Amino acid sequence: MPNSEPAGYDPQSVERKWQRRWDERGTNRTDLAGATRPYFNLMMFPYPSAEGLHVGNVFAFVGADIHGRFRRLAGSDVFEPLGFDAFGIHSENFALKVGTHPAELIPRNIERFRAQLKRIGLMADWRYEVQTTDPRYYKWTQWIFLQLYRAGLAVKRRAAVNWCPACKTVLANEQVIGGFCERHPDVRVEQRMLDQWFFTISRYAQRLLDHLETADWSHSTRTIQANWIGRSEGAELVFATPAGKRITVFTTRADTVFGATYLVLAPEHPLVADLTTAEQRSDVQTYRRKVSAMDLVSRKVGDKAKTGVFTGSYARNPATGAAVPVWIADYVLMEYGTGAIMAVPGHDERDFEFAATMRLPCVRVVAGPAQDASTPLAAAEPDIPDGRLVNSPGFDGMPWREAGRAITAKLAEAGLATPVVNFRLHDWCISRQRYWGPPIPIIYCDGCGTVPVPEKDLPVVLPALEDFRPDDSGVSPLARLESWYRVPCPQCGKMGRRETDVSDTFLDSAWYFLRYPSADRDDLAFEPGLTRRWLPVSSYIGGNEHAVLHLMYARFITMALHDLGLVPFEEPFRRFRAHGTIIKDGAKMSKSRGNVVNPDAYVERWGADTFRMYLMFLGPYQEGGDFRDAGINGIRRFLDKVWALVDGVAVGPQTPSPNPQDPALVRLMHRTIQRVTEDTESLSYNTAIAAMMEYVNALRDGVAVGSLLSPLAILLAPYAPHFAEECWERLGGKGSVMDAAWPRFDPALAVAEQVELVVQVNGKVRSRLPMPRGATEATVVNAALADPAVQRFTAGTAPRKVVFVPDRLVNLVV
Ligand SMILES: [Zn+2]
Ligand SMILES: [Zn+2]
Repeated sequence: MPNSEPAGYDPQSVERKWQRRWDERGTNRTDLAGATRPYFNLMMFPYPSAEGLHVGNVFAFVGADIHGRFRRLAGSDVFEPLGFDAFGIHSENFALKVGTHPAELIPRNIERFRAQLKRIGLMADWRYEVQTTDPRYYKWTQWIFLQLYRAGLAVKRRAAVNWCPACKTVLANEQVIGGFCERHPDVRVEQRMLDQWFFTISRYAQRLLDHLETADWSHSTRTIQANWIGRSEGAELVFATPAGKRITVFTTRADTVFGATYLVLAPEHPLVADLTTAEQRSDVQTYRRKVSAMDLVSRKVGDKAKTGVFTGSYARNPATGAAVPVWIADYVLMEYGTGAIMAVPGHDERDFEFAATMRLPCVRVVAGPAQDASTPLAAAEPDIPDGRLVNSPGFDGMPWREAGRAITAKLAEAGLATPVVNFRLHDWCISRQRYWGPPIPIIYCDGCGTVPVPEKDLPVVLPALEDFRPDDSGVSPLARLESWYRVPCPQCGKMGRRETDVSDTFLDSAWYFLRYPSADRDDLAFEPGLTRRWLPVSSYIGGNEHAVLHLMYARFITMALHDLGLVPFEEPFRRFRAHGTIIKDGAKMSKSRGNVVNPDAYVERWGADTFRMYLMFLGPYQEGGDFRDAGINGIRRFLDKVWALVDGVAVGPQTPSPNPQDPALVRLMHRTIQRVTEDTESLSYNTAIAAMMEYVNALRDGVAVGSLLSPLAILLAPYAPHFAEECWERLGGKGSVMDAAWPRFDPALAVAEQVELVVQVNGKVRSRLPMPRGATEATVVNAALADPAVQRFTAGTAPRKVVFVPDRLVNLVV
């Protein structure tokens, strides 16, 4: 029978067939209005670079897609949209480099990305795709700006900002790496004073922090956000000058005020000019000029040599009454606290270094149990456990925490202290002096001042500008287009001028999840009924590199819209999980290292399903793994085995045995369903795949029948969707495997077979323990140590050595 020769697994034809079917049958479409169990499965939408999809993107999306498919099989109506985040400097700089206009380049990149994303088999409902560069989208980005503007949350003010001379625009502090631009690692970032639009996110700092406590988010992401918000409790203390100027400092350590031997002001502090004496004037001016050429981030670097200049003035320490000198130094920043600090060299490292360099006095005011008031300080001692105050008349002997509160209270009576809470989180600068972004919808009129563009005139379309190169003026290239720049004032009709800055690309991505369900609506940003039904997002999966900017801004915008009555929830994401990173040859993939993997070549050679499973098998999804070419063969062999098993059932003669089901295999099937269910649920995809592999190996040694294989096809569907569809069909399944129900396991059958393990202590048998077959060493040792019969001989000490023979014996050497 030459015709019955089973055809081997050909991924390309299987994947082509099922992608066509999905399109024809609308398999991946979600009925947004009719869904009864909505589950919004969000993944971070990509920036469509010219290079195409990166293997890191594929890793992220496949992991999120597995989650969405799993939820759908488990009974939810899953909505899995995708889109493109295509505005911003990355696109613009690349367009400048290759000499093609971004308006031409971006649609091409998007097309390529979309094709690649479809090829890897995502369950995306492409009817709801969004593109941030589409006027249909950014009309609503501008609308959101106007809502915040009316609420007083968008303000324009002059501020010191980081300026990259190569980008020719402002940068967020987080985009400055060790003093250099993140996009231009050899370009030093400067500081400039510019008029900028800010969103006042700092007003939301406490709320953003409070909600983190109960958020179902990856622990690492929560920690990064909490640190970025940077709440500190402390006090503002007043140091007055003989001329009556009050210098306010913020400190978290009011207990050390008796050790404050000098003050340091930020060079930009408004009191510096008044405090500078005639003989110090030229030194102070020179220093201030030098500092203004530096960026804010390198000023924060702790380990550089301390520099500074004495102003010539003194101020009174509110606790000691002594006159202390007032200095300026670059390590103090205007943006944190009050822009002035009291320096306590005995208990602060930077102050100690500064005092040592400038020969300023240093006094101990906190002593540990083995120290006293005269114990010398060889270095700063910032944190002394069980420290008590010394050299602080009236407070000596008091524990330092208590003393901080007591001193603040005492000085408050004299009007010299105020308890305050401070945050590191500063306002979000959203204006960019570039071309490729949504114009900020504001018009300036000589008569009326700042006038918002009326909503009916939105969008303010980004005009086609042939020469969109930025210049060094600090003004966007849009200002060069007179016909666009000059516009009648919406209030009085006289000639006014448009705002020429465009908004930060992080504003585009701060609300895109709200747009998805309403992406087909042009009459509103997000439809209230759909928003209530589908949001907050059920699951959000993305990279931890977005823990601070994107994820914080998205939370802030949602909170602000909530307060304006525009959305019925305060937090946008019910659950957030950070995925890991794929590395190659021990390093993160990057063009400069030459270790970037092109996913297309792999998909072409192996098929999307094998590549998907291979990526997920590299390591725990939330940790990532090392990309090694060798391993992909193993996945392919696994799928070939499944193919052959299905072939044997679907094509070959039915097994004649009346009771073909081997009880051991049935038990293993239930165990496998349980493991794959639990591991897929917890994003532990690599161990879920391992469980399926074990099962398939056992099936090959036994008698495979359809009832043992159909559940496997469903378990495989999230991981290798095309392959699973084909198996499902061959096994006689109806419709799409994605419409099947996730298999249930019988807990009684899923329990592993019990074996009796011998427990020895120092080679002598002391107990016997029933354990599930295959129990790990750690499980067995823990069980043994908890056994009273064993405890009599271990005397509560941890074993020095463990000898473990799986399923048979454990010997604890104590
Ligand atoms: Zn730059
Ligand atoms: Zn006017």
